[in-house]
Amino acid sequence: MSDIVLEGVDKVYPGGVEAVTGASLVVKDGEFVTIVGPSGCGKTTTLRMIAGFEHPTHGRVGIGGDGMTDVPPDERNTGMVFQDFALFPHMTVGENIAYGLTIGGGWDEADAKNRVEEMLELVELPGFADRDPEQLSGGQQQRVALARALAPEPEVLLLDEPLASLDKKLRESMQVELRRIQERVGITTVLVTHNQKEALTMSDRIAVMNDGQFDQVGTPQEVYNRPETRFVADFVGTANIFDGTVVDQSPEKITVDCGAFEILATPHDGVTVGETVSVVVRPEHTRVETTTEAANVIEGNVEVSRFLGDHVECHISLPTGTEAVGIVTPDGPSPTTGSQVTVGIDAEDCLVVTD
Ligand code: ATP
Repeated sequence: MSDIVLEGVDKVYPGGVEAVTGASLVVKDGEFVTIVGPSGCGKTTTLRMIAGFEHPTHGRVGIGGDGMTDVPPDERNTGMVFQDFALFPHMTVGENIAYGLTIGGGWDEADAKNRVEEMLELVELPGFADRDPEQLSGGQQQRVALARALAPEPEVLLLDEPLASLDKKLRESMQVELRRIQERVGITTVLVTHNQKEALTMSDRIAVMNDGQFDQVGTPQEVYNRPETRFVADFVGTANIFDGTVVDQSPEKITVDCGAFEILATPHDGVTVGETVSVVVRPEHTRVETTTEAANVIEGNVEVSRFLGDHVECHISLPTGTEAVGIVTPDGPSPTTGSQVTVGIDAEDCLVVTD
């Protein structure tokens, strides 16, 4: 078992910066979990506490059933890959990968050589051992960095924005590649990224971090379809968020007064009449201009409409002064800029969040 456990972990840096507060997370053996959140929310600090480069102010870190809180980084058996690759420029690809095996790893030269070949096969760079890092593309360098991290057979793999410096296309193909390699090796992995799309597409589960705390931990589907906070709804995917006050509720629905219009939404435990809430609607759950059947029909004006291949995205200004994003299938004519439209949303697609 190579699970990772964080229990009530806080990190306060000298000077009083509270980078992480009460973080608890279990990454199961072989699981790929992504910590995602905006810049400065505490992602890297959390990863560095797992790796042992930072010591928690409070709380406990465990790997593989062993307490690690006071264990130095070089005794934690973790492999790490960073954004800047950090390959040693004066060493060949093979020497880079062998570094952790021969220096301090206790591998003899023949075994290390075999392991280097095995790792180069894994990252689909066979025959690259004698190249210099500068002779490789960015994507190839990042594969070598991954091979180097995996070579000493670490218990867990920790990835800090490993794809951030690659261009969009390469980044997307490396997302698939990285996941393929992780699954093949079966290694427990934590990825840190500020890119919510990357988190959605790569992970078994996502831990959404907001201001030093995990707001929600769940599968990509859970986090996208059932966001538990306004922050999660807003940060992961595109969301229409209507702020308002609960004016009525029954076991079947909640009515939220948003000022210029009311919205019927799905029931939410613990919400009371008079409470300020937010209603979250994903753009794909809106129907622009075909709305007479919907529980909620909101009028607005098209500000921009964008053809995106399989659908048209409309940005619609609403009487509340906010903007909604709606989807139109490209079969019919797209609403033109300035035209008046209606946005239809079924009550079951309106989720209430309370903070
Ligand atoms: P980014 O996506 O920009 O890398 P992050 O989510 O990884 O951000 P952290 O690097 O963990 O965030 O930083 C969290 C907070 O802790 C920030 O306010 C940061 O300024 C602060 N911080 C990070 N390292 C230190 C340090 N060594 N000393 C003091 N404060 C620090």
